[in-house]
Amino acid sequence: MTDLPLALITGASRGIGAAIAHQLSPTHRLLLGGRDTDALAKVAEELPGAEPWPVDLTDAASLEAAAGKIDRLDVLVHSAGIGKIGTVADSPSSVWRTNLEVNVIAVAELTRLLLPALRAANGHVVVINSGAGYTARPGWGPYAASKFAVRAFADSLRAEEPGLRVTSVFPGRTDTDMQREARAQEGGAYEADKYLRPDSVATAVLTAVTATPEAHFTEIQVRPR
Ligand code: NAP
Repeated sequence: MTDLPLALITGASRGIGAAIAHQLSPTHRLLLGGRDTDALAKVAEELPGAEPWPVDLTDAASLEAAAGKIDRLDVLVHSAGIGKIGTVADSPSSVWRTNLEVNVIAVAELTRLLLPALRAANGHVVVINSGAGYTARPGWGPYAASKFAVRAFADSLRAEEPGLRVTSVFPGRTDTDMQREARAQEGGAYEADKYLRPDSVATAVLTAVTATPEAHFTEIQVRPR
């Protein structure tokens, strides 16, 4: 077990991140990021070689302390995110700040802190972006702006760190708590059978992470049929 590569997955307490943890588990040791310690313990119980990594990504001191304990890292998956949506007219600065803080700044800062560990392993950074990272629809500006920004982050990182692989994954609507909240804010029906399953997004991540050494999946789009 200790010979397996190490992967840190943020947002692993539920949703897409938890599905990624399940799919990487047979081939990786796992650190499971999130804030909900009970949920993290439950995911860890199901997965051999997995342990909780409970950190609030917006708490700079905790993040630095937790990242400082990792000296070699093969895979970093940024799945943690929030989806505060609203029109420009209805979105105060707090909504913009919250989206940017979790979806962009925390991603950049955690990556920066872990760069020496990632370089030591010629590692792989995976960013769970969104269709909103390419298309800003009405009512989705604050979230879309954060996803456009984190696409730029990934593109810069890929160009700056040729020893790493950097993959952005762009899922469409996926059946998770975030999508339930988004539909509640939009005011539409929740139609789970029309959305992606978290496992389908996780399959894209597994494909990128287990690619043959000469191959680099830079971007993967995943849409419900
Ligand atoms: P989710 O079910 O709501 O889960 C969000 C995860 O992020 C949870 O594990 C949560 O941890 C973690 N998180 C949020 N804020 C955090 C913070 N400050 N510190 C640490 N962890 C934090 O969301 P999801 O649908 O799986 O979304 C995962 C990613 O996919 C996000 O980046 C999202 O933008 C993207 N995405 C989702 C959809 C969709 O339709 N669901 C579509 C496209 C892209 P705790 O619960 O432990 O706090």
